[in-house]
Amino acid sequence: MSKVALITGATRGIGKEIALTLAKENYDIAINYRTENDEVQNTKNEIEALGVKCLMIKADVSNFEDCKELAEKINEEYGRIDVLVNNAGITKDTLLMRMSENDFKDVIDINLVGTFNVTRNIIPYMIKARSGRIINLSSVVGISGNAGQTNYSSSKAGIIGFTKSLAKEVGSRNVLVNAVAPGFIETKMTEVLKDDVKNNMINLIPLKRAGKVEDVARVVKFLASDDSSYITGQVIQVDGGMLM
Ligand code: NAP
Repeated sequence: MSKVALITGATRGIGKEIALTLAKENYDIAINYRTENDEVQNTKNEIEALGVKCLMIKADVSNFEDCKELAEKINEEYGRIDVLVNNAGITKDTLLMRMSENDFKDVIDINLVGTFNVTRNIIPYMIKARSGRIINLSSVVGISGNAGQTNYSSSKAGIIGFTKSLAKEVGSRNVLVNAVAPGFIETKMTEVLKDDVKNNMINLIPLKRAGKVEDVARVVKFLASDDSSYITGQVIQVDGGMLM
């Protein structure tokens, strides 16, 4: 029986690449998406073309009931869940002086509360199986902070605390919990940045290039695999040396 991986917010960008990478490792895939569009069916087709199953489940990760149904559907369809990648995330960047209450709350609700909502509903299955891997997408700005991102960096710092606390709670059940902290990765999330902002960031990166979605997906593959069986509670930066 194939192992099963759930990736949230995975119809594009980093999440999609993680789903394709794990599909190539023969995982059956469950993908969560929020917005109905062509990307959803395209992603399903690309994954199934790799010879594995792909279940697509619409759910807003900031809604606890949606996440409960998400976990139940995966259990009904596959009967197991081996890997959870909490990838869904948004930005609403602006200086604190201009930030609305909703700009702050929306980012926390999706990035941090969403990570709780999905994990809380999936973890009973992992504990019962005495096996599981949880990989949370944080960010280097959750470690360093970043002007214009008090909401986003708070959510990503929160994910680091969540990761370490949960790793301590469930390690004895053979459930391993780690975070990946990407730097500047080329996706739809970062394409909105102005060219001079992008060039300034690249100048600060010792490897002198933006990261690719594959750079992140390969690390997630490692953290999902048996090769990382003695690693838990860690934050792995994938940032070309941007933050040391
Ligand atoms: P992206 O291209 O904007 O993709 C984000 C995905 O999350 C989309 O599929 C989006 O779906 C989904 N999503 C957003 N809100 C959701 C919700 N409430 N419920 C379910 N899905 C939702 O972003 P990305 O660059 O691939 O980022 C992926 C993750 O990596 C995020 O957690 C991000 O914070 C983190 N990260 C990215 C970078 C970077 O440089 N790109 C750096 C550090 C960390 P919709 O189409 O419905 O919005």
